[in-house]
Amino acid sequence: MESAAGPATPPAHSDFVREIVAEDQRTGKHGGLVHTRFPPEPNGYLHIGHAKAICLNFGIAAEFAGVCNLRFDDTNPAKEDVEYVESIQDDVRWLGFEWDERMFYASDYFERMYEYAEQLVRDGKAYVDSLTADEIREYRGTLTEAGRNSPYRDRSPAESLDLFRRMRAGEFPDGTHVLRAKIDMASGNINMRDPTLYRIRHAAHHRTGDAWPIYPTYDYAHPISDAIEGITHSLCTLEFEDHRPLYDWVVENIRPDATFRSRPQQIEFARLNLNYTVMSKRKLLQLVEQKFVSGWDDPRMPTIAGLRRRGYTAAAIREFCARIGVAKKENVIEMALLEATVRDDLNRRAQRAMAVLTPLRVVIENYPEDRTEDVLVSNNPEDESAGERRVPFSRNIYIEQDDFMESPPKKFFRLSPGTEVRLRRSYIIRCERVVKNDAGDVVELRCTADLESLTGATAARRVKGTIHWVSAAHAHEADVRLYDRLFRSENPAANGDPLADLNPDSLQILTDCKVEPMLARCLPGTHIQFERNGYFVADRDSTPERPVFNRTVTLKDSWLKIAGKN
Ligand code: ATP
Ligand code: MG
Repeated sequence: MESAAGPATPPAHSDFVREIVAEDQRTGKHGGLVHTRFPPEPNGYLHIGHAKAICLNFGIAAEFAGVCNLRFDDTNPAKEDVEYVESIQDDVRWLGFEWDERMFYASDYFERMYEYAEQLVRDGKAYVDSLTADEIREYRGTLTEAGRNSPYRDRSPAESLDLFRRMRAGEFPDGTHVLRAKIDMASGNINMRDPTLYRIRHAAHHRTGDAWPIYPTYDYAHPISDAIEGITHSLCTLEFEDHRPLYDWVVENIRPDATFRSRPQQIEFARLNLNYTVMSKRKLLQLVEQKFVSGWDDPRMPTIAGLRRRGYTAAAIREFCARIGVAKKENVIEMALLEATVRDDLNRRAQRAMAVLTPLRVVIENYPEDRTEDVLVSNNPEDESAGERRVPFSRNIYIEQDDFMESPPKKFFRLSPGTEVRLRRSYIIRCERVVKNDAGDVVELRCTADLESLTGATAARRVKGTIHWVSAAHAHEADVRLYDRLFRSENPAANGDPLADLNPDSLQILTDCKVEPMLARCLPGTHIQFERNGYFVADRDSTPERPVFNRTVTLKDSWLKIAGKN
């Protein structure tokens, strides 16, 4: 609720991560500092799951008087691209977060990571292994069976160092050697069975070019990047819980130099899962590459760019992240919650307008042909300061086809032969006659208006139904895109390939829409409630001749009813 004095401060919410951070600050751990980071790999666009991580990392930094870095975790050259580096910055900024001068790349640390690796070899804590990838897998053992030492494990540090340097010099083809940490092949935690630190990969990197024929693994690069940047709390998703001992091993064994300001600690939280969608970047990339969607920002995509184009506001996404909270246990959030959140937000901010999506022509026979009058319509009943606007009314108007039924069922309170409805903020009309084409379709209604019902004697008269309308002579043509779930089932990945579960009706394009004049001038990105039809946003495909609107969300949750829930 907002008070007269302005927006109320959001309710103080806490979670187990914030509790840890607060306790650390209280006890003076990390010198009382809080320094987080958001570390995307630039191999795709950010999605709503990333928004959760962004809100958590930047949010905690802000709440605890700390700072948050944006770090590109760009250690895997094959799939990374500058397009993604740019889109990620756009999306984080659009969500409302700022990293100031603290934007970094893991690749900036390649030289130091390499030096630490040489040191690990000299210390006898890492060795070059020359088994094939298949052999390494075989030697690793299983959850129930200990692994076996590689025959190369006891190579002398001098021999490993020589090989490692030659790996770095590009002497060997891909897959011939790896650098491994020497930890414990019998560990109960498979991640600790001599994990790989470096692989040979003759691949150009989007920042370092051909400088490196070897690349560090995530498990090696991530803790070092955190330590170099002075990260205090390294927040990541639950699947890295089993990697934490390795994270700690790396931080402890790389002989931190004087520039290390902290010994970062990894804390895991449950990732966001949403029903009716997928959040694997690999799957999202397939949707884009195989043209199931128009691009990463297709309004059906769960990407931030897609949600933005769909008409979601940054405030709604931040609010959604606050509502779902942060926990240690995996769960699945209902898409309906995301939709309810944007509905609440747009209800407050979206200007109202009238748009007829599937028009039916209505002629008001007793209204003069040459007359036009402006009726006053409230711009947003939720926000008086939004004021009112004038909407032209005349003899010929459009209404929605489904606001008329020739033989209506009992509780149909809209228009049918002989019945009355009120036109929103305008006259009460009665349907006198139906005009049909040769095929028997209703193509026009002939109506009469109660001409006293707008400002005259019967202005207060009430009829059961109120419908929206647009004056035909003043209407603009528009395209409207209606979206539905991209996938048919709640868990699209349940039966293997989510792409086999795509909803063939996820996009419907209406090309014969009639909208009130004001809507022709909307700038792309403008949020509007089309009365009775939902929340919409003007799309960037709009032209001065033809505006295009995307439906963000329906006014009510029609989905729950359709799906037979509730
Ligand atoms: P991929 O899909 O390629 O495995 P990813 O989704 O883990 O990658 P990253 O770019 O590595 O993508 O993610 C950056 C950060 O966002 C990580 O800290 C990761 O834990 C977090 N993150 C990713 N997906 C989610 C999610 N669904 N919920 C919450 N946080 C997430
Ligand atoms: Mg990842």
